[in-house]
Formats: sequence, C-alpha cells, structure tokens
Amino acid sequence: MPPKTARARVATLDDEWAERWERAYASGDLPWDIGRPQPAFRRLAEGGLISGPALDSGCGTGEHALLLASLGIEAVGVDLSRTAIQMARSKTRDRGLAATFVVGNVLDLGALGRTFRSVIDSGMFHTLADDERQPYVTELARCIEPGGRVFLMCFSELTPGAEGPRRVTQAESHGAFSMGWAVERIIPERFEVRPQFMQNAPHAWLATITRAATAE
Ligand code: SAH
Repeated sequence: MPPKTARARVATLDDEWAERWERAYASGDLPWDIGRPQPAFRRLAEGGLISGPALDSGCGTGEHALLLASLGIEAVGVDLSRTAIQMARSKTRDRGLAATFVVGNVLDLGALGRTFRSVIDSGMFHTLADDERQPYVTELARCIEPGGRVFLMCFSELTPGAEGPRRVTQAESHGAFSMGWAVERIIPERFEVRPQFMQNAPHAWLATITRAATAE
C-alpha cells in the first residue's frame, strides 16, 4: 500500500502517486479489496439511507458503486487507477449491472461536470495528505447537491500499530468539514480487510456529513 507521508498533491493522472496505486492494483497486493462491499456500507445502503445519483469516490474495483447499482441506485465510481477501473467495469458486465466508472482524480471532481445526491468514501479520505484534505472537501462541495450527504469511512486512531493507512480522529473529520457542512454523526465501525493483512479488523469511524441546504 502506498505510504501516507507528506507529498505533492496529485497533479496529473500519470504522476508518482497515481503510479503507485496503479502498481498496487497491477500486483494484486490489495488488503482492502475484499471482493464485496464493506458491511458498514451494505447496512446503510440496504437501510435505504443512500440516495442516488451517488458517487463512489476512490472506488477501487467498484464494490460500493456496484452495491448501489444492485439496489437500483444510479452510481458513478471514480479512481486514479486505470487497472482498478477496468476491474470495476468487468465486474459490472459479469454481474449484469449498470454503473459508470471513470479514471479520474478526486481532487478534481468538478471535471465530472455533474452533481450527486450522495457520496461514498470508503478508505479514500485516509490516504490524503494533510494539505489535500481541504481541497478534497472543496471538490466534494462542488459535486454534491445542497442537502446531499457524504458517507465517509476511514481508519481510526483506535487501530493499533502503524501498518496500513494513516489514522484519522473524529476531531480531524469535524475540522475538515467545518464550513458549509454538518457532521451529523460519527460512529465506530470496523473495516473488513483481507485476512493476511491484519489479524483484527481495523477500527474505523463512519461519518455521515450533510451539505448545507443552501449554497454559501
Ligand atoms: N473504495 C475502495 C478503494 C479504497 S483504497 C474500496 O473500498 O475498496 C483507496 C483508493 O483511492 C485506491 O483505489 C486509490 O487508487 C484511490 N485514490 C487515492 N487517491 C486518489 C485520488 N486523488 N483520486 C482518485 N482516486 C484516488
């Protein structure tokens, strides 16, 4: 998994950061890629809490967009890795579903040229460097409808050790979404990962964040 030390912001889809993710998908070293949605998002989606159209931000091989598609919700997935997007498209065909997958940068969501009612972020936010968080939240604001919701799950500081992505505290999530957003709730969850990666399921925070109803 690419390290999470300070680095330059993704400038192009061919820069070093994008290449590292590309190499991870090409090599198959993908602890997070469990071949099904995270149970936490399955519960939300099956509970009817995620409305369409929805964006899966940093979608990897597409399980969350495909979960939504299987529930009849229009879904778009975006990821830097061409290989991940190809894998997502081939799952879409194999499962007879309809979802759209785009190679792109979540720090430039405006390039999608459209808006969404919901955004899922499963394990993308915690890969961002400190100075990328605010630009990301600004991009989310550009592509989410007023009153729309972001569902964001990241590693929490309760996960012991330093393996895997950086840990994010509740206070950091509140800080990132302070202007024009309401952090409705943050609940403790667990990430499911491939068994060889960590013995115990990593601790996570699952945040529900609502965009202000009127644009500021
Ligand atoms: N959501 C997926 C993948 C999580 S891993 C899942 O739950 O399985 C984090 C993903 O974020 C990787 O697929 C990586 O390629 C992607 N990513 C990291 N930085 C990105 C960026 N700036 N733009 C788009 N995708 C990015």
